[in-house]
Amino acid sequence: MNERPFNDSSYEQFLNEEKLMGSKCKKCGALAVPPRFVCINCSNTQMEWVQLRGAGKLVAFSVVFVAPLPLARAGFGKNNPYVVGVVKLEEGAKIVARIIGVDGKKPEQIRIDTQLKVSFIHTGEGNNRKTILAFEP
Ligand SMILES: [Zn+2]
Repeated sequence: MNERPFNDSSYEQFLNEEKLMGSKCKKCGALAVPPRFVCINCSNTQMEWVQLRGAGKLVAFSVVFVAPLPLARAGFGKNNPYVVGVVKLEEGAKIVARIIGVDGKKPEQIRIDTQLKVSFIHTGEGNNRKTILAFEP
């Protein structure tokens, strides 16, 4: 597992395998999700992969009414908004992801600090296979 470079393409590959992975600095222990090849804290370049449990809390969210094309095709948009949030993982890192299992039309019912667990949304086939990181209550 350690031979994969610390970049977005490795990260996406791991998501395809339903693994949420981050990079951990071997010097100071700082965690980055998505991974970085240079430590965000001490600029060290010795990293190791860590698999995250995929549990966290909702820190912030926004309801998106203007969907990018793939989501518009999936039926999202002005009349069916979707939710994007910042999730603070148990391990401490914060990550932006789709929030599913909540109603974008009733944002007043979405609560900050809600406990969330990771979910992987797969789209496409073969080389076009992509995985969207999502969290749900
Ligand atoms: Zn460091």
